[in-house]
Amino acid sequence: MSDIDRPALQRAPELVAHRCHCGAYAGFGFSTASRRHQMEWWCWAHYPYKDPDARREAGAVAKLLAS
Ligand SMILES: [Zn+2]
Repeated sequence: MSDIDRPALQRAPELVAHRCHCGAYAGFGFSTASRRHQMEWWCWAHYPYKDPDARREAGAVAKLLAS
């Protein structure tokens, strides 16, 4: 397998980064079905659609990363 036969990019790739209203990078996006083209973005601290399972999971991941 080789990647040599792929054409080289002619310009730098475009970085798509979203920011939360607080200024932090926003990794959590959400859009409703009626406004599918309008994605809203938040950082985890401000993400409004957290459910208890997701909170527990995030805590478990944080503990895992800390150990
Ligand atoms: Zn935020």
